[in-house]
Amino acid sequence: MGVIRKYMPAGLHPVCLKTLYMLKKLCYFGLSCYCPVCRSWIRAWKPHPLVPESVICCPVCHCLDRHRLGWAFLCIRTDMFDAWPKSVLHVAPEPEFETRLRRVQTLDYLSADLERPAMVAMDIRDIKYPENSFDVILCCHVLEHVPEDRKAMSELYRVLRPGGWLLVQVPQPPAISHTIEDASVTDPDERYRLFGWPTHVRIYGPDLKERLESVGFKASRLSAKDILDDKETIRQGVKGQVLFHAVKA
Ligand SMILES: [Zn+2]
Repeated sequence: MGVIRKYMPAGLHPVCLKTLYMLKKLCYFGLSCYCPVCRSWIRAWKPHPLVPESVICCPVCHCLDRHRLGWAFLCIRTDMFDAWPKSVLHVAPEPEFETRLRRVQTLDYLSADLERPAMVAMDIRDIKYPENSFDVILCCHVLEHVPEDRKAMSELYRVLRPGGWLLVQVPQPPAISHTIEDASVTDPDERYRLFGWPTHVRIYGPDLKERLESVGFKASRLSAKDILDDKETIRQGVKGQVLFHAVKA
């Protein structure tokens, strides 16, 4: 796709990208796997180049396991795509989601990030929006990078409207029973060893649910099997994934 953007005239980008997308769908076609994000039937997933033992990608849209579970959840278990309008705050927007959500006419969509390109710059520990501003907040693979995560959760709670909901995803290794954090650890190599990535400040356990509830949310922790049946969990390549759904009562 980068080649198209670099060498083709800008006016031809949409048609070239669409053609490439359709070619990939044909090229990887099969009946073993289904990607709910790009709605492609494919032969097999591709191992992630950096973590091939634990993450599998869609060869058409390049989404990861967690994206597929998050998207399936939004489609199956939430009112995200119902007919009535909603305001959506998407923190650290995943390109796989942003492109699709911006096309949904019923969504008043806002993406936000502290460092990377987004519609607005935002530190979720200090959100410059009044309380009750959003119906939905998506905040995936963000909190494990935030030193004062309870402050961020309080802010997310504050700007949600009553009845609104928050989707949170974080890395959740199955062997971790409780959140591990140590603010004194700042060395990237040590953070990688302890928390799984050089920029993570903690690794969450299932008790993230209680942490969300401590700021007022009514939270649920859902595994892939709580959202999809066994057959679809395998077919959509989301085995072992979990997410948190937190509602502002
Ligand atoms: Zn896909």
